[in-house]
Amino acid sequence: MSSEPPVTPNIQNLITKNAQHVKNLTQQERDLPIPPAKKYAIVTCMDARIHPSKAFGITLGDAHIIRNAGASGVDALRSLVISQQLLGTEEVFIVKHTDCGMLKFDNSHLRNLVKERLNTDAAKDIDFLFYPDLEQSVRDDVAYLKGTGLLPEEVVISGWVYEVETGKCVRIV
Ligand SMILES: [Zn+2]
Repeated sequence: MSSEPPVTPNIQNLITKNAQHVKNLTQQERDLPIPPAKKYAIVTCMDARIHPSKAFGITLGDAHIIRNAGASGVDALRSLVISQQLLGTEEVFIVKHTDCGMLKFDNSHLRNLVKERLNTDAAKDIDFLFYPDLEQSVRDDVAYLKGTGLLPEEVVISGWVYEVETGKCVRIV
């Protein structure tokens, strides 16, 4: 006998809000092409306090928004190569932020948590890419992306810090 899949409050929220979204989506939005119109990609953190389209002025269809823990360029490389080679983007932004969780923990802490809670060593070789210095990490990730040889030399890669306290974006590199 098959059981019904669970419906959590968050699942119910998606169902309800999406039904409204379907009603509101314009024909122009439905007809958008796959390649981003403004030809750029933004790498930013998964932090719930960042609303990229509002904070960074992105209209639907304009840009790729790649999100991960800490706005890691290392983590985003796969998506960036796809973005550039297959979908025509030509510019990259790395936008990290103040008060990021990635500044507060380290690999050994998280590996120990996994071991304790899940009773496995499977995380022992995973680099979770924490960093102790925010601005240095922005510079490191921009330098990393430039050094991979996987993004064209002429591509502009800028690095930024978003201040969750004020909403302000400050350019670092
Ligand atoms: Zn973060």
